[in-house]
Amino acid sequence: MKKLIEQHFGFTPNEINKLDGYDNQNFLIASEDAKYIFKTYRNSGETLDQVEAENQTLLLFSDSNGYPNPVSFSDGSYCKVLEVDKEKRICRMLSFLEGQFFAEVEHSKNLFESFGRFLAQMDLTLQTSVNYTIQSRRWEWNITDLELNRKYIADIPEASKRSKVAYFFQQYNEHVLPVLPELRKSIIHNDANEWNILVKDDEVTGIIDFGDLAHSTLICELAVALTYACYDKEYPLKWAAYILNAYHRVLPLQEREISVLYYLIAARLCISVCNSAHSRKEKPENTYATSSEVKAWEMIDRWLAIGPIQAEQAFREAVGLMNEPRRTTEELSMERFQFISPILSVSYKNPIYMERAAFQYMYDAHGNSFLDAYNNIPHVGHSHPKVVEAGQRQMAKLNTNTRYLYDSLNRYAGQLLAKFPESLNKVFFVNSGSAASDLAIRLARAHTGRSGLMVMEHGYHGNTQIGIDISDYKFSNKAGQGQKEFIIKAPIPDTYRGKYSGRDAGQLYAKEAIGLSRQREIAAFITEPVVGCGGQVPLAPGYLKALYPEIRKQGGICISDEVQTGFGRLGDHYWGYEAQGVIPDLVILGKPMGNGHPIGAVVTTREIADSFSKGVEFFSSFGGNPVSCEIGSAVLQVIEDEGLQENARITGNYYQSLFEDLKREFPVIGDVRGSGLFIGVELVKDPDTKEPDTHLAQHIKNELRNRHILVSTDGPFDSVIKSKPPLCFTKANADRVVEEVRNVLQEKA
Ligand code: PMP
Repeated sequence: MKKLIEQHFGFTPNEINKLDGYDNQNFLIASEDAKYIFKTYRNSGETLDQVEAENQTLLLFSDSNGYPNPVSFSDGSYCKVLEVDKEKRICRMLSFLEGQFFAEVEHSKNLFESFGRFLAQMDLTLQTSVNYTIQSRRWEWNITDLELNRKYIADIPEASKRSKVAYFFQQYNEHVLPVLPELRKSIIHNDANEWNILVKDDEVTGIIDFGDLAHSTLICELAVALTYACYDKEYPLKWAAYILNAYHRVLPLQEREISVLYYLIAARLCISVCNSAHSRKEKPENTYATSSEVKAWEMIDRWLAIGPIQAEQAFREAVGLMNEPRRTTEELSMERFQFISPILSVSYKNPIYMERAAFQYMYDAHGNSFLDAYNNIPHVGHSHPKVVEAGQRQMAKLNTNTRYLYDSLNRYAGQLLAKFPESLNKVFFVNSGSAASDLAIRLARAHTGRSGLMVMEHGYHGNTQIGIDISDYKFSNKAGQGQKEFIIKAPIPDTYRGKYSGRDAGQLYAKEAIGLSRQREIAAFITEPVVGCGGQVPLAPGYLKALYPEIRKQGGICISDEVQTGFGRLGDHYWGYEAQGVIPDLVILGKPMGNGHPIGAVVTTREIADSFSKGVEFFSSFGGNPVSCEIGSAVLQVIEDEGLQENARITGNYYQSLFEDLKREFPVIGDVRGSGLFIGVELVKDPDTKEPDTHLAQHIKNELRNRHILVSTDGPFDSVIKSKPPLCFTKANADRVVEEVRNVLQEKA
């Protein structure tokens, strides 16, 4: 090596040290008065072109400090194929830059600003450069080639992580691809990560490693830099603003570049985790995640919690752009009342103008991001990429009705029924829980030839006329229609507030219900396994097991409304009735079934379906259409793939235990109940009298809203906090909710 240096560069090195290289051999060379990096590469035409392109670009900076300068061989060239260690290798020499790495120093506002300025100055020069080798290169690490990484998503072992990445791929296609042709293009460094940036005295002084040079959209330079500068920060937007502001002062950014930055940063994070996963798969001996991989995953989670609207606002503010004026919630409410009846209520004293959502987060139009601890309809997560893709694909292919034959109906029906015991083997698809309840009652009446019905106190089953007739929550309301003569109401088997508690409560309540059921001939008895509108009240253990045989003995049918409780939400069980050790004759499904797409269903026995078939044709224009079936099928798949029932069990138990702890601190929490991620927390004025504290429950709900957490209240006194979040909810999310409830209660005390 010494000889080679003497021969080709005309000086005698004092010291030669071999450096760790990824796929090339590098040497640190010291002469009397300078240090150099001697780089060698495997010999190939492509690499030679690459290295020459890199040298050509670096020569643009030969007058500036802070860049490795190519050092010429004695013959004036900057690159040669020479024999190193008996192998022909591509060789080049670069000047060595002194300094500490950005990763190793303390971070400050000043440092970040100098980073922004440095990058902008570099990019001003790079903008003047033309290089066809770089321009024709397509590879995974150029953000605008994101799609090349899709094949690596499958290499990420955890399904829930794959979904987050797939979500950002989808968002990239939605938000970046359409504007990409309009964005400024340039050659960019493309790898301004914390180990490529040199620092001295709290200032960025240099940048190394031009091996990732790319022809890309200019803003990708910042997307990469911001990713690595901020991916270990608790408040990444604050730090990003320092870099952006300083960059913008030197090289002004355009509004549309700012508008896609959130998605480009997300895309870079995805590229990073995809490639880490891929290389781990290729080299399974490297089982450990690198620190950059861990940080990238953390930032992906933080990025979801922040959301695109808040991020764009922060980026705009950083470069002095006014945020687009959005309509106020008052304006929007006023307009709504022009067209929409006030009978459709809006949540909160201060309503929320929602614009987007992802997984367990919702983003309003004003840049606030909410933790959704309330909405159970987006069961597997808001905007889940598998569900979105299923809908988009099928909508672009075929959407028709059950008068034709198509695969997705049969396939989905089979998949859904596989979740039920053998006796429940026929399904009718409709478009809502209400339509399912309505149809269930028709089926029960058709099968039994009777009209009487026994329903649950405080129960709710739907908004159709039959739905209201069987919903005590509605017909017993002050403004309700009252109880119809064919309805019998069973007292809610509530072990907290009701008259029975303890081990026999279920039996005692069932006995009472049996007595009532004999008042008239009934077609069916309907209840939810956990009475949601009643305030998340689980039926006392043993209740249905004692009651169902009696209903059947009398010739009635047993209906379980699983609209709220189904699809694994309760953690221990996929369906709520399982917790009671019974099998119903009819099951009603809705809400989570389509993750927000309107699907409902009635699942029943062959005998009941046959009785119904003797009547007039049943047809639903939309029930069971191919789009709904594909979406429903995707939901089932995601629950399975991501282990969401298990997450509901583990996270739900943890969440409840946190509330139990809080109950010990604050006696105003009278009861904590529910199962999995279906939780009720009842507020009382006095734990002994159990007098409900409606006002406090409302106060907590509204205060949580102000702290960007969504929950709701319900129950006969509206004194129960309901939490039933998307099943991707995490323990950290649970910590945040309970911590804020604690803060509200402390402030109140
Ligand atoms: N059953 C239960 C238990 C419900 O909670 C609801 C809706 N809140 C329904 C039925 C009716 O469903 P939908 O609103 O989809 O008509």
